[in-house]
Amino acid sequence: MAKVKQINMENKDLKIGFDNIIKGNQEWMEFVKNDSTGRFQQLAKGQNPEILWIGCADSRVPANELTGTKPGEVFVHRNIANMVVHSDMSLLSVLDYAVNVLKVKQIIVAGHYGCGGVAASLSRTQYGIIDNWLSHIKDVYRLHSAEIDSIQDPEKKADRLVELNVHEQVFNLCTTSIIQNAWKNGQALAVHGMVINIGTGELIDQGCTFTNNESLGKVFAFK
Ligand code: ZN
Repeated sequence: MAKVKQINMENKDLKIGFDNIIKGNQEWMEFVKNDSTGRFQQLAKGQNPEILWIGCADSRVPANELTGTKPGEVFVHRNIANMVVHSDMSLLSVLDYAVNVLKVKQIIVAGHYGCGGVAASLSRTQYGIIDNWLSHIKDVYRLHSAEIDSIQDPEKKADRLVELNVHEQVFNLCTTSIIQNAWKNGQALAVHGMVINIGTGELIDQGCTFTNNESLGKVFAFK
């Protein structure tokens, strides 16, 4: 295999940033070494998480910390604004593996107040290639435009769209063939929608949990 030439980082800021990553890892290695439970040796052999987390790529919403879980307990997929797009092969692959191989029992779609992706989708500004992704959120706005347009405060408007977006992404998730087939096969599987308050750390249940396809409507629910 060809050897990759090590680039000498002359930029001081880049060098410090990279050194911090290595230093952080050394501290983590020290923690792993001192752990007496044997869980890391166990994790090295395989994983058996009960939760699939579909969250925003935002750096402020880490799945493990928000759910009080440890490495090995949450299977994670994150993208801009926690979207479930039916043709997204990355999401579908994660979902298929989580449901059919790992047999997760709880799936959480987690949005968060102050989501930049949601805020951007409410504006008419062009941001570049991301605009095509944000169009999926604009679709949610279009579905609920009467309610969203009736809110005057820009922050409250964006917050409400965050909540409605979570509802719609939960629905999108439940309509996938993967989730519906799991239910059809009698697999115990709950899909939840939650919104994170970054300031308080609260994970707010949106009350849109699905455990079967009965309320998906006749067009979406497979027989
Ligand atoms: Zn976000």
